[in-house]
Amino acid sequence: MKSAIDGLFASLKNQFRGDLLRPLDDDYASAGAVWNAMVARSPGLIARCADVRDVQSVVRAAAAEGVLTAIRCGGHSLAGFSTCDGGLVIDLSRLRQVSVDDENHRGRFAGGSLLGSIDAATQPQGFAFPSGVISHTGASGLVLGGGFGWLTRLHGLSCDNVGGFTVVLADGSIVRASATENPDLFWALRGGGGNFGVVTEFEVKLHPLRSVVLGAGLCVDDDIAGIVRHWRDFMPEAPDRLKWNVNLRIAPDSENVPAEVRGRPVASEFVIWIGDPDEGRPYLDHIFSLGRPVAVTRRIVPYLDLQRSADNEFPHGRRYYTKSGYFKSLDDRSIEQMVQALASVPSPATLIELAYLGGAAARVAAAETAFGDRTSPFVINLIANWSDAAEDATNIAWVRNLFQELRPAMTPGVYVNFMSGDEDDRVPEAYRERWDRLVEVKSHYDPNNFFRLNQNIPPRKTGKQ
Ligand SMILES: Cc1cc2nc3c(=O)[nH]c(=O)nc-3n(C[C@H](O)[C@H](O)[C@H](O)COP(=O)(O)OP(=O)(O)OC[C@H]3O[C@@H](n4cnc5c(N)ncnc54)[C@H](O)[C@@H]3O)c2cc1C
Repeated sequence: MKSAIDGLFASLKNQFRGDLLRPLDDDYASAGAVWNAMVARSPGLIARCADVRDVQSVVRAAAAEGVLTAIRCGGHSLAGFSTCDGGLVIDLSRLRQVSVDDENHRGRFAGGSLLGSIDAATQPQGFAFPSGVISHTGASGLVLGGGFGWLTRLHGLSCDNVGGFTVVLADGSIVRASATENPDLFWALRGGGGNFGVVTEFEVKLHPLRSVVLGAGLCVDDDIAGIVRHWRDFMPEAPDRLKWNVNLRIAPDSENVPAEVRGRPVASEFVIWIGDPDEGRPYLDHIFSLGRPVAVTRRIVPYLDLQRSADNEFPHGRRYYTKSGYFKSLDDRSIEQMVQALASVPSPATLIELAYLGGAAARVAAAETAFGDRTSPFVINLIANWSDAAEDATNIAWVRNLFQELRPAMTPGVYVNFMSGDEDDRVPEAYRERWDRLVEVKSHYDPNNFFRLNQNIPPRKTGKQ
């Protein structure tokens, strides 16, 4: 009997201009790989689109055949939503065109772009798009979920910098969403993830920027908890041009780390100043006067280098598991719990990431976009990173245990892009008072829940879930 995937392949093969890859094809294995080896799957068909018409035909055909469909931009979904077993992957990796309108400080990028594709096109013209901190991350997944990184405090979330989307809907039609065209969809796409359609183009604001001041240092022993407390107390008053992140981790065995610190728990500080270096100097002086940091460096770095600087810490093909949440205020007990957990972390590559949002992101009104909570500025992300499948259970248990300890002090809510695949029950928590409106928009634009491999917002009346 012909399977739905065979039917899909047959209906596409004479019209599809990109590549249709099935499990026995040469390119299938490399095309099918996603970033997180923990969520590796075997799709029945990978449709690598050559253009927007391909996206339309494959969406139409898959909807008609009722085939489970994943959409893939960069393939960095921690939860594994950009692949599936036996179904279809719509692979957008050939759609990475980026254009810059330098007069109007605007840009456009296609739905398969990586953060690095955007930076590579905008930086030669002296512009930056506020995105995330690892250049091999896909831009679509990141922006549709919200998107934060080094420029968030100064310029807002990535989704706050989008002026329009071009979207292929579940029936294969194309619509635009902006403040004046389909404004409900425009609202939902800014934080509501991949629930509504395949975004084939983003029109965005760009900001003049060529370089930043980057300071880094490591704190050990009692200074670890001390520096987190200082950071917590300092950030609410910090200027928007300052971004100070702290990662609790095991110091790597690297030549930048003093030999006596390697392999020990540390608080690894990254401080970015965006603007005139002289104006930023007093802030960096202050931060590095706290405690007794070692391996302190301060330099001006091209923005492109900053964006690529941590790429190797999160390579493709390792095993990752994450849990995340917000704090309105961070209490001493939670800080102690994190520091204590570091002593028993199973993998030296694992991080407890601490970031403070606030700034421009917090000044956007709650109802303006679908993005979750903007009022809880402290974001914590526990990200376990290891390579051996035999160590899955230990690493997952470490993250879950620490999360359980911290959870009572957290504010309800979670950033959808930092969720793992076993957290379906937290999706309403992520959107809270925006949930009903999101369900309304979903019910209108995707009533059969064709786009369901995501932090799913089920439509009101649905045929397939
Ligand atoms: C190494 C690493 C670093 C990260 N750093 C940051 C960071 O600094 N800041 C931050 O905010 N987040 C960060 N994240 C989280 C990141 O935002 C999410 O993992 C995001 O989903 C990645 O996007 P992607 O396009 O690679 O995802 P994919 O895995 O390709 O897709 C993820 C989801 O988006 C949907 N989707 C993808 N493309 C489209 C499209 N064109 N139209 C509609 N739906 C689409 C998919 O259906 C899927 O549900 C990071 C993740 C990783 C793995």
